[in-house]
Amino acid sequence: MLYKVSRWGIMKYLSVKSKLNIDAQDGGFTTPLLSYCLENGILDAVVVVGDKNWKPVAYLATTPTELLKSTKSKYSISPNNKLLEYATENYDKVGLVGLPCHILGGLQFNLALKVGLFCTKNFYYETIKNIIKERFGLNIDEVSKMNITKGKFVVETLKKKGFAGTEKVVYEIPIKEIEKLCNLGCRVCTDFSAKYADVSVGSVGSEDGWNTVIIRNKMVEDIINEMVEKGLIEVKEAVDITAVEKLENIKKKNEEINKCSAYFAVCPALF
Ligand SMILES: Cc1cc2nc3c(=O)[nH]c(=O)nc-3n(C[C@H](O)[C@H](O)[C@H](O)COP(=O)(O)OP(=O)(O)OC[C@H]3O[C@@H](n4cnc5c(N)ncnc54)[C@H](O)[C@@H]3O)c2cc1C
Ligand code: SF4
Repeated sequence: MLYKVSRWGIMKYLSVKSKLNIDAQDGGFTTPLLSYCLENGILDAVVVVGDKNWKPVAYLATTPTELLKSTKSKYSISPNNKLLEYATENYDKVGLVGLPCHILGGLQFNLALKVGLFCTKNFYYETIKNIIKERFGLNIDEVSKMNITKGKFVVETLKKKGFAGTEKVVYEIPIKEIEKLCNLGCRVCTDFSAKYADVSVGSVGSEDGWNTVIIRNKMVEDIINEMVEKGLIEVKEAVDITAVEKLENIKKKNEEINKCSAYFAVCPALF
């Protein structure tokens, strides 16, 4: 197995693809992982994100069926952690899926599983809605999928094609053209790969249609081995770790900027 030793411990890297037929964001690993955990008593409930016209709606899922409306990435802030107090008071084994900032905030709760998603940036809902309108001439409710991948912001729609069903139409712009519109907090964020999660999931570093998965402890390694044995997922040792590290290092640069900002904040008399 591909692995790396760092101050965060031993991390194992795998490319993973779901064998189930679900309409997911990338390899579709996240949703079956949670489903497996709910079915096998590893989790009683998990905080996930559904949507209303792509506006994130955080909710607590307790069955695999309830997970199905949480697939695909919504590129806006989701108040996942607001549910953690209720969830941990009412369920023994609570899971959280979230971006690195959600996972960091979730550390104050006793969680049974933390699934972190890779993240370079995120947007306010109104901002992403306006970008889609202004740049692609689309209403957000026409969108069937969004993605930030390979330096581009990509939007897909499903156009009706006579009696023959639907046709996928893809729109894209370089992410550079919109990255300045991201949330203020994202500009100083230092974590790309959700270092504090039990398992991190993204797409960069793997083939299209696969997930890059970083296994951060034995519990997750055992779950993944069981999922492979049961024919739920396929795995291969094909991650381009350098591609993941490149994005981690871009975020790391913010650590220095943050140190400077803190210096200016605590020493206003000097400036
Ligand atoms: C804002 C954002 C930015 C991302 N940036 C990158 C990136 O730069 N590079 C990269 O490789 N991967 C990135 N990802 C991760 C990637 O888009 C997929 O989420 C990941 O590969 C898992 O794919 P999957 O097929 O297993 O997901 P699925 O099985 O489709 O499950 C998707 C999961 O994402 C959760 N989710 C959806 N939207 C949100 C949200 N707004 N906040 C928190 N959780 C959410 C859902 O609860 C669900 O559990 C980003 C994700 C998001 C939401
Ligand atoms: S870039 Fe950082 S702060 Fe912004 S949504 Fe992603 S993890 Fe959170």
